[in-house]
Formats: sequence, structure tokens, C-alpha cells
Amino acid sequence: MDNLLRINHSSQPVVGRFAPSPTGPLHFGTLLAALGSYLLAKASGGSWLLRIEDLDPPRVVAGAAEDIIRLMEQLGFEWDGVVLYQSQRYERYLQVLEQLRNQGRVFDCCCSRREILASAPHSGEEAPVYPGTCRNGIRRDRVERSVRLRVSNESIVFQDGIFGTQQQNLEAEVGDFILHRADGLFAYQLAVVVDDIDTGVTQVVRGADLLSSTPRQIYLYNCLNAAVPEYFHLPLAIGDNGKKLSKRHGQIGSVTRENGVTMLWRALEFLGQSPPNGLLCLSAGELLRWGVENFHPDLIPKRNSRISFSES
Ligand code: GLU
Repeated sequence: MDNLLRINHSSQPVVGRFAPSPTGPLHFGTLLAALGSYLLAKASGGSWLLRIEDLDPPRVVAGAAEDIIRLMEQLGFEWDGVVLYQSQRYERYLQVLEQLRNQGRVFDCCCSRREILASAPHSGEEAPVYPGTCRNGIRRDRVERSVRLRVSNESIVFQDGIFGTQQQNLEAEVGDFILHRADGLFAYQLAVVVDDIDTGVTQVVRGADLLSSTPRQIYLYNCLNAAVPEYFHLPLAIGDNGKKLSKRHGQIGSVTRENGVTMLWRALEFLGQSPPNGLLCLSAGELLRWGVENFHPDLIPKRNSRISFSES
């Protein structure tokens, strides 16, 4: 009980969510985000939403959203309300972009990625910091490509429920960032914040690869005058090649109806919950219920670790 009190420190009921991108079949890394967000929301009596992040049509794989939803159902996950699809929310994102424009917070930008890279030759593999080229208007011979949010020179500090205090200076480390892309699509940073605000999400639980996006999102919450949710970033499962386990690993780590119980069991174990071996004979739904009833958030490891599926 002590743990649960600490998860939900405000008096508001928790609203959590799982927001997969339908770019392929469900894999272990995404299952961790589903399970972690479900346990944190349900163990404190909260609700849990499902949102399909099909914002980027070229990356969406036909049928993947339906497959993920069906599998979530088969594994016993129960979400509240209807499934939200980002592809149906273009008008809403546009409305928020216009609101930010009216507040003077965004500006048109004509820079290509190549030009920004050329201005920051030492940025290595990291996305280069935007040097502010179009902040005060675009050059006369150029056309606008994207829309950026003007950031300020202050540190965004937040408390992550797993990784502790985090801090980032947006101006120095990121620069003014894109909300509306050159290809006409809205950026993930804008869509995720608008969706979470509109659906009343109070608790964001997702993989630690998104830790560095969180300060940008908190900044957007502040610009929109909305309450910032609490954040829990989960440790990442690292594949045999030393990289975050993802759909790029193909079949390795993919979750199916057949291996669902084993994968859920391994996800509980990965999140530090030590499920007894005997639970492997339960159904997925029963195992999930065991997870909620026996959940100890303090046991979630604070570092990424390797996982191998060769024997499963
Ligand atoms: N759609 C993102 C993903 O599948 C998650 C975004 C989020 O949870 O904020 O990695």
C-alpha cells in the first residue's frame, strides 16, 4: 500500500495510457510499455486508455493497428473508452498550432535538415541543435517548409518516477523544435501532448528512449497552460546486438497469441516483479491480474538490460 500511495501523490484519479505506433507487430519492447502503464494505472485504481499513434502514414503498416488491438484483448488488457486514432485528429492539431501562432510562440522555418547539420558540424549522430536561423523571419528568396516552437533559455526540470530528477535546457540542447513538418504532417511532440491533454491523461508511462523528448513536451504543456502529467520511463530491453529491442529485430521478441503468457511473464520479470514459475500455467488474463495485485513499482530496475529470446 505504501508503494501505491507514492505513485498517486495528487488526489486526482490516475488516467494512464498506452500509445503504440502501428509500424509492425507487437514486440517485447512495446509490451513492456503496455504492461508498465497498465500496472501503474490499475494498481492505483485508475483508468487506462489505448491510443493508436498512426500519425505518420508512410511508417504505418496496414493491419498492424488491428493486430495490436486484437492481441491486447487476447492478453487480457482492458482499456477504458474508445480507442483514439491520431490519424483522425489532424483538425485538432491544426487548431492548437493556430492557437500557438496567435500567441506568437511559433514561426515558419525554411531550413532543411542538411542546412542545420552544416551549421552544427560537431553534433555527431544526435539531432543537431537548431541554430535559430528563421526565428526572426525567413530569408527573402526562400519558402517556408516547417513550423517551429520558439523555446526559452531555461532548464526544464522534472521528476521521473523511475529515473529520478531529469533536467534539460531546451535552447542549448535542442533548439526551437518542429511542430508541423515539411511533409505536412504534425510532429509527434505536438500530437502526443494534445492527445494526452484532450483525454485527461495524468500519468505517462513509456520507454526510457523517450526521456529526452519529455522536456519538450513539458514545455508545450506550459505553453498551452495545461497541467503536466507525472512521468515514468521504463528501462529498455536491449537485444543481442546491443541496441534497443524493436520491430527492426524482426521475429525476435515478437509477441503472439501463442507465446503471450510467456512474454507477459518475462515482461513482469523484466520489470522486477519476480513472478513465480508456477504462474506460467495461468491464462494471460490471470497473469495480468496477478501482476496488478502484486505490483511493486519500487522494484522496477533503473537501468536498461539485455534480454535474449533464443530459448523461447
Ligand atoms: N508511439 C510511441 C511508440 O510507440 C510512444 C509514444 C508515447 O508513449 O509517448 O514508441
